[in-house]
Amino acid sequence: DPTPFDPECLFCKIVTGDVPATIVHESETTVAFRDLNPQAPTHVLVIPRSHFANAADLAVGEPATAADLFDAAREIAVQEGIDGPDAGYRMVFNTGPAAHQTVFHAHLHVLGGRSMTWPPG
Ligand code: 5GP
Ligand code: ZN
Repeated sequence: DPTPFDPECLFCKIVTGDVPATIVHESETTVAFRDLNPQAPTHVLVIPRSHFANAADLAVGEPATAADLFDAAREIAVQEGIDGPDAGYRMVFNTGPAAHQTVFHAHLHVLGGRSMTWPPG
């Protein structure tokens, strides 16, 4: 079963190492790196190694990897010290233009290190 790869995709190039990124976590199916324009003291993007345009497509195409994103996020939260009884973090999938999705390779935002506002706006 071939790994979907889009040679035009920025995050596929981060997976292959052709575009540099500050990698903070890796698994067989996922890669996580610091967001270039962080919106919180910790702002990490967790992505599948395989190319899917958004989280919904990933859930259909590689459901086990969708779960792996959450497992990676949990490990990253511990690693970054943003988990715990007085802390916590937010996980976000922006999907589509109204949600301001700008990169069309599924990515889970993991944000922490500050108090989050709700509703997010
Ligand atoms: P979206 O708006 O699609 O949910 O999130 C895309 C995220 O990717 C944004 O938070 C943006 O700052 C981040 N981003 C865009 N280009 C790059 C890049 O080349 N490197 C890294 N590390 N992050 C990027
Ligand atoms: Zn891609």
